[in-house]
Amino acid sequence: MQKSIKDRVFNLLPPAMIAMVLAFWAFGPKALVDHPWAFTITSPLIVIAVLLLERVSERHAGWRMNRQEFFTDLYYSVLSATVIFWLTQKLAEDPLKAAKVALGIKTDWVMQMPWLAQVMLAIFLLEFGQYWMHRLMHNWTPFWLTHAPHHHITQLNAAKGAVGNPIELFLISLSVLALFDFNDTALFAAFNVMGVIAVFAHANVRSDPPIWYSFFFTTIRHHSLHHSTDYLSTRCNYGNSLILLDRIFGTYKEGEGVLVGQDDRRRLSIREQTLFPFQPMIDRYKTRRAASRTGGELAANDQSEPAATA
Ligand SMILES: [Zn+2]
Ligand SMILES: [Zn+2]
Repeated sequence: MQKSIKDRVFNLLPPAMIAMVLAFWAFGPKALVDHPWAFTITSPLIVIAVLLLERVSERHAGWRMNRQEFFTDLYYSVLSATVIFWLTQKLAEDPLKAAKVALGIKTDWVMQMPWLAQVMLAIFLLEFGQYWMHRLMHNWTPFWLTHAPHHHITQLNAAKGAVGNPIELFLISLSVLALFDFNDTALFAAFNVMGVIAVFAHANVRSDPPIWYSFFFTTIRHHSLHHSTDYLSTRCNYGNSLILLDRIFGTYKEGEGVLVGQDDRRRLSIREQTLFPFQPMIDRYKTRRAASRTGGELAANDQSEPAATA
């Protein structure tokens, strides 16, 4: 079937947006690039741009944004940019930087590398960690309980990458990046490139990038399969933005998912997503309390019965 011009253009949008991000951080006006708010602006801008593209060329009507999804996504986007970011700095980044100084680890060689090589190294380091963290989450119950809420989402869109239990959001943001001396703009470029890829990989946009892109980078086809209702498929395609890692480590699976969700595909509320890892504990406590209450009532009945018959 002949592809329309619109489809052809949309298929090239993910690589085009990566090129734009790289061009901005490499050659953008200094006043903008060095501005302390630059990165705080570019990250949500990528999500907003792709959310708008969803309105121009939608992939599935069933994934269409609505009020409830919008406010849930907004809540998690703000939570990630504030609380989770702060916790990651305080509990992981700062101690790691302190350890680097204390141990006298010198990584000036990173700063000497060509700018683009620094971007690529940062992406690889981040993705390598995220791949194994994600795979661990699917293979060990305590970690799975934090990641399951992300799989309970019943529709995909550009903002859905940020939706998940707060513990998961913290765990997935951990990295060894603080041990290396990167050029600031190279780091921001790396984060934004990964942002573009991961945002498109969750987006409800009819865009299927060329094979030279999807060989290396995660697309909506790869990631929708990871979110599908088929259990075995959810245990493949772990790469957040580097699907190449799945190809290397033998977890790559070809295909695409349309129906997304976990178990009975019941949508979880923010409260349920937050309490999810503790739910088995809460349930056990409730059962014990109910059992002790009925036990108490039975004991009271046992005592009252002889009195009544007497
Ligand atoms: Zn997963
Ligand atoms: Zn996802």
